[in-house]
Amino acid sequence: MAEKVPFATDEQLRDLAERYGTPFHLYDEATIRRRAHALKAAFAWCGEGGFREHFAVKACPNPAIIGILADEGFGVDCATGVELMIAEGCGLAGGDIMFSSNETPDADYRAAHALGATTNLDDLTQVDHYLRACGSFAGRMSVRLNPGGTIAAATGIQGEPESSKFGMRPDQAKEALRRLAGSGVRELGVHSFLSSNSLDEGYFGRLAGLLLRFAAEVEDELGIRLGFVNLSGGVGVAYRPDQEPVDIMRVGEGVRRAFEEAGVATTGASGVRVACELGRWMLAPAGGLVTRVIGTKSTYREFLGVDACSSDLMRPMIYDAYHHVTVVGRRDEAADHTYDVVGGLCEGTDKLAHDRALPEAHEGDLLFVHDTGAHGHAMGYQYNGKLRHAEVLLREDGTSELIRRAEAPADYFATLGCTEAGRRLLGMGGAGKLVRH
Ligand SMILES: *Cc1c(COP(=O)(O)O)cnc(C)c1O
Repeated sequence: MAEKVPFATDEQLRDLAERYGTPFHLYDEATIRRRAHALKAAFAWCGEGGFREHFAVKACPNPAIIGILADEGFGVDCATGVELMIAEGCGLAGGDIMFSSNETPDADYRAAHALGATTNLDDLTQVDHYLRACGSFAGRMSVRLNPGGTIAAATGIQGEPESSKFGMRPDQAKEALRRLAGSGVRELGVHSFLSSNSLDEGYFGRLAGLLLRFAAEVEDELGIRLGFVNLSGGVGVAYRPDQEPVDIMRVGEGVRRAFEEAGVATTGASGVRVACELGRWMLAPAGGLVTRVIGTKSTYREFLGVDACSSDLMRPMIYDAYHHVTVVGRRDEAADHTYDVVGGLCEGTDKLAHDRALPEAHEGDLLFVHDTGAHGHAMGYQYNGKLRHAEVLLREDGTSELIRRAEAPADYFATLGCTEAGRRLLGMGGAGKLVRH
């Protein structure tokens, strides 16, 4: 089994834990940039302007992270008005922003329209909703296709396309494109998202083939030439040590072959550009949750109680997802203990890991929970008054930066200021009653 090694050294992790206090999510700039370079290399065959990644903001909505990705030339994919505000705050606008929402409030369409975002409509009914909200269409729009069937091999978190709430049938997508083209939209595209956390390196290539066939039908039947295909997200990461990481070069090569087979170029007047919206693949391995063992317990099982909980990392609780755990400073010791790593929520399912073989760990030990850069802090919540913790960025030069402070009780009470009791709590919460260290 391949060993999974944290991106920071034991000494760095101890220093950071000392400086910021545990728990916190740590992100590694070097890993983010390395993955960005690998993705660009995999799609270099698209030529100048023929490819763009729009990072799915929901995976890690932190402006410092989005700033690094923007510096690498990437745009963003947003799904809500608040995510659009993050994009705007990061200086992104127009073609930088894809807006792929569903069950969309009019106000969110208006926010996307004002930024000049490329809105990707989830349903035929949304053609009218967008027009009702904004009065006209944006210069560039797209439609979200749900092809049905099983051609793209739905795997993992996402089920069969026909049970999915996302996207429209091919006939509906064509009708939406016909109406958009008739309203003077300058450029149209098609988007589809059929698989999550797929380790199948052929998935993107098959999806590109499917979208190019759809584009050819649209051209034949409606005389509309699409300007881009958006492969969206779904490329997976090797959460488990026995899984082989996706070779992104092979993913890019699969898409290249699909274009070659369809006889379609990615640049030039008749070119169809390639877009994607990778969230997990871009960022999951570039983040880790650093937490401390604050108690051990032995009953019918062995437990490591930590100062983080499922509100820092929800994936194990809701998907029984595996996140690898390293006991900092004990990598050379035999993994001869079997632990459940548990947080302090009053929920039996609050386990970051279960039945996990680890070296014997003790109170005070630091644990590094791997691959939390995507859908880690982002999925956090405040259940049980467990406030969300800090985010820290490890810079390429070895320095670190607090990129989101931990929540304080006053943040939790902030929405209660409409009541007398709430105002009293706000006063208490702001007074630093909870000293954490
Ligand atoms: C979540 C999402 C993504 C990112 O998916 P990953 O599996 O994280 O790559 C991309 N596009 C849309 C529309 C999404 O909802």
